[in-house]
Formats: sequence, structure tokens, C-alpha cells
Amino acid sequence: MRRTSLVLVGGACLFAAASANASIEYRVSIDKSAGELRVAACADRDYARLELRAQDGANGYLLGFSRSDGGAVARSGDRLLARAVPDGACVNYRIAAARATRSNGRDEGMQTADGSWIVSPGVWLWRADEAGVLRLDLPAGMRASLPWRPRDASRTTYVLEAGGGDWPAWAAFGNVDERIVAGGDGTELRIAVVDAPSRQRADDLHGWLREVANATLTAYRRFPVRSAQVLVIEIGSNSSSPVPWGQTTRGAGVAVELFVRRDASLKELRADWTAIHEFSHFFHPYLGNSGRWLSEGLASYYQNVLRARAGIVSEAYAWERLDAGFGRGRNSATGVSLADISRAPRRRHSRQSGGWPVMRIYWGGAAFWLEADIALHRERGIGLEDVLAAYSQCCLPEAGRVDPDAFIARLDALSQSTVFSRLARQHSTAAHFPSLQSSYATLGLRVESDRAVLSSDADAVALRNKIMGERIAPTAFGAR
Ligand SMILES: [Zn+2]
Repeated sequence: MRRTSLVLVGGACLFAAASANASIEYRVSIDKSAGELRVAACADRDYARLELRAQDGANGYLLGFSRSDGGAVARSGDRLLARAVPDGACVNYRIAAARATRSNGRDEGMQTADGSWIVSPGVWLWRADEAGVLRLDLPAGMRASLPWRPRDASRTTYVLEAGGGDWPAWAAFGNVDERIVAGGDGTELRIAVVDAPSRQRADDLHGWLREVANATLTAYRRFPVRSAQVLVIEIGSNSSSPVPWGQTTRGAGVAVELFVRRDASLKELRADWTAIHEFSHFFHPYLGNSGRWLSEGLASYYQNVLRARAGIVSEAYAWERLDAGFGRGRNSATGVSLADISRAPRRRHSRQSGGWPVMRIYWGGAAFWLEADIALHRERGIGLEDVLAAYSQCCLPEAGRVDPDAFIARLDALSQSTVFSRLARQHSTAAHFPSLQSSYATLGLRVESDRAVLSSDADAVALRNKIMGERIAPTAFGAR
């Protein structure tokens, strides 16, 4: 375990408090043949007014509702309202879960190859805003992957934080093969493969993601999140990418969804960057659109650095991929700054990929993190991962948005430097992609005909090793 001398700057742990006063218990069971999820939302104190809320449009999947004490329940759109609910009474409701998976509405459910259900919790869990617990009672042969943190090793009771019901998240029920990858300090990834066609394929997918998860552990030996859900869903696709789509969601705890091409070989998957990119999003809080260059930049930087550290790719290859990315960023959205791009309404970028100049944002952000990493090593004798480790210990919330300026200020304070604010100002206000010439010179890096040429200068080698080399014994924070 790392010994650190943390600089705590009022870093309240935002995620510890919410679960202590759970007062609604949601008992969830399944009638597979009826295609229904059944929920009993039970009070453990008297409620003058109990309101259970679902996501927009969930109304159509509510099949019926009642109260265990015979009292009234009123429905108003996507809300159920019960008054004078005594301690121990439950509001019972039934949800057409199988139908939700066939909605083809991206927000409601997804149909899988073998009939497992993937349903948004906002559709099936009509819940109060306050914290609660969810208890799962599954029929024989059915297993689940849920987005919330399990309360204990039995993995049948989950902790529902207060609020958090409005952002996307997914729950999977059916042929779900969930396996745990443990990191330091009790952190874990709950990796769930849905509807694998064979045991061998499930083993391959889990082996691949265990390798990727372990690559993220090369940063500071534990995951930045306590318990994250990773859903792996195979799809038919003509995409050249073995992982045509991946995303990180923070609707009910941090989660990653990876859509894997059904015919992707293990070799193709190991060579792909999508999974490590998504896992790298664990290192930062949600920063909103204005912080997108920081969040996508960090994931784009680490998708190369962490794979090199873990030995999945060579150091030279990682530099080549970073350099190629910088080249794409340099050719995108010239003449406007990252700050301008972040402020501008999305439609202003409508001619480029989904409304955003994606390459400029991703690789402009990656250039910032590379230069921050170099500056930290030179000025403070520490690496970016040391600062992110300290941030995750004191300050990283698992839900809610953090203002990008506040994030940068906190990283400055933790590193006892002005590296982050100084470089963020430079990088965000420059109208063109930065020249990385002096950073390349410091690294002893040239790229000729797409091939990295690495100098043998001792200082350059040492710096490159600190960035790309595996850190078997991480340096103590603040040590020179
Ligand atoms: Zn990303």
C-alpha cells in the first residue's frame, strides 16, 4: 500500500454519508414467464407522504400497483404517491420488464441475443429521492448485474444513494456472468458478460477485461471507484472496431457499458483501446460539457500510457499512438480555442462528428495531460497518477458534476504546485493545437514516418520510464 502525505484541503468525502440512514427497502423479484419485475417499496418508519418517481416515459410499463396496508396509491404520470404510510407497509408495483427490453428506445431497455433483460432502473425502480437499499430475490438460474454498490459479499443487497435517478444506468437480468476484479483498499470492478454463447467465450471476454482492469491498476494499485459495474454486451456489427461502442455512465454509481462485436477475436479485443479508455474515465469526476476536453483528454492519454505500463503494448507504440492522436487534433478545429469550443453551443460544430470537433477536444486534452505529467515530474518529482490518487482519496465524487475549474484548483492544491492551472490556462485559451516540440525534446522523442525514435539520453530515458514504465514500487507522494 502506498504511503502518502496527503494535502487535504477541506476534502470532504462526498460519497460516504448517504447510505447510513436508508429508510426505504425495495424488495425486487422476477416473474420470468410473465415478463415482469415486481417491487415492494417498504417503509421502515411512518411517512406522511411517500412519492416514488420513475424516469420520463416509464409510465407505460407500470402494470399495476397497490399497498400492503390497503391504503390508497395515486398515480400521476411517472410518479406514485401514497399518503400516511405506516412503518412496515409497502407500496407494491409490477413492471413490464420484458416489454421494456423490446422498446428499442435507447433510454428504456435493450434486447439481447439470448433473451436476457437489460432495462434502465429508471423504468423499473420507482423510488423515493432519499437513500435506501435494494434487496434482490432471483429465481433459480437467473442472475443479475446492477449499477449500485453491493452492501456486502452476498451481492443480494445494494445501496441506493439519495437522488441520482435521472441519469442513465443499466440493470441486466438473465444469463449474466458477473466476476469480480479486486484492486487495493477493497475497491472492485464487477464485470458482467451478458448472454455469452459459450463458457469459453465468457472466459475469453473476462480474461481480456481482467487484463484491461489490471492495466488501470498500474496507476496507483487500486481503482478510483469503490465498486463499478462493467456490462459487456455482444452485438452483431459491421464495424471494423471490435468494440464499436463504449460509454461510461454515472447514473447510479459509476458504470461502463461495452458493446463487443460478436465475432471479434480475443486478439482483436486485446489490441483495441476502447475498454481502457472507458476505465480511464474512473480517474476523474463528471466535469460536464465545459470540462469535456479534460475528461476525454485524460482517457485518451491514459488509454496509451496504462497499456504500455501493463506491457500490453510497447512504449514506442504508445508514443506513436499519442503522436498520431496529436496529429489528428492539430488538423481539427484550427483557429478556435478549447475554451471557445466548450462555451459554444453544440450546433456550432455541427459539421464535425456529432456536433463537436472531437479530435481537437480529445487530443487537445491529451496534450494538456502529457505536459502536466512532464511538468510534475520535473518540478515536483511526482507523477500525474500520484496527484490523481490523492484526489481519489479525498475528493472524487461518484455522482454529480464537479466544476472543471474547481477540479483543476484541487489538483494544484494536492500537488502543491500551479502546474494544472498554469497549463490549463495555456491549453484552453490557445487558438491552435499546441506545439509539443519542447515536450518531445524533453522526452527524447521524435516520430519519423509514424515510427517513434527514442533517444538514449539518460534524463530522457528516466522521464519516459516514469511515464510509461511499470511502477512496481510507487514513489511516496512528495518524495524527490
Ligand atoms: Zn471517453
